[in-house]
Amino acid sequence: MNSDPLPPLRQVLATHGLQAKRSLGQNFLLDLNLTARIARAAGPLENVTVLEIGPGPGGLTRALLTEGAARIVAVERDVRCLAALEQIAAAYPDRLEIVAGDALELGSAMPASLAAAPLVRIVANLPYNIATPLLVNWLQIEPWPPWWDRLVLMFQHEVAQRITAAPGSRTYGRLSVLAQWRASARLVFTVDAKAFTPPPKVTSAVVEFIPQPPPDDPPPVAAISAITAAAFGQRRKMLRQSLKSTGIDPAILLNAAGLDETLRAENVTVAEFVTMARAFQETRESR
Ligand code: SAM
Repeated sequence: MNSDPLPPLRQVLATHGLQAKRSLGQNFLLDLNLTARIARAAGPLENVTVLEIGPGPGGLTRALLTEGAARIVAVERDVRCLAALEQIAAAYPDRLEIVAGDALELGSAMPASLAAAPLVRIVANLPYNIATPLLVNWLQIEPWPPWWDRLVLMFQHEVAQRITAAPGSRTYGRLSVLAQWRASARLVFTVDAKAFTPPPKVTSAVVEFIPQPPPDDPPPVAAISAITAAAFGQRRKMLRQSLKSTGIDPAILLNAAGLDETLRAENVTVAEFVTMARAFQETRESR
């Protein structure tokens, strides 16, 4: 494995007094084999600019650099980590830009410093307390396809299961529909809690997302969101009941997708939700 010229990560934590803060979702990865494995899952990285959220003490950042990332823009909220990150930037001239700030405030927009990048990939061991809102922002970008070519992200295993769940499964829900509508989402590998410092209570998993080309005549995200919110908001009810809260006659939506009115949300495929969202949008526009 390539190695870098920087001190071991445990020493970095000690030197900079980086006691993990639970409020910032800090579970650090100090195992170089694991950080390299994540970086390789995101590769090949030549010509790629990586947007990394929450670099922390920089373990994954360093792995991405040694695995050949052309450039990294790393957004970190914890000012205590900035000095350690500056050391990495100094060891890899012109390849690491550190942005001190809150990644949630970026929303769906591409950070300005990525505008000239030919390929942008988002790679992160995400802070679990904001992992889902960050993902939803990146999946709701319009127009589609988005400005990123791939996401390689660490989540709690339970969230990874919800993202990749198939219809009929207990964990199939709004996040599954959004993720699988916008991307092909694949659980790449699971990571034991012991791999983190401090260990979280649960197993984690790395998930890869590759954007799907948009279907012909795609419904707006807001329409998908309205339909899935209604259907899964009352997931035990039949669709003829739960879809009433969309404000459109459920029969119009169900007929468009050729669905039985007694089905429940968890039995509806992603393609069927998209068809209902299109009918929802057309009906609203015709009023
Ligand atoms: N990448 C490091 C690693 O793998 O060891 C740290 C991962 S740790 C799970 C999550 C990181 O996200 C922490 O460094 C934390 O300070 C940072 N973070 C938490 N909330 C953030 C936010 N709103 N915006 C940017 N970074 C945030």
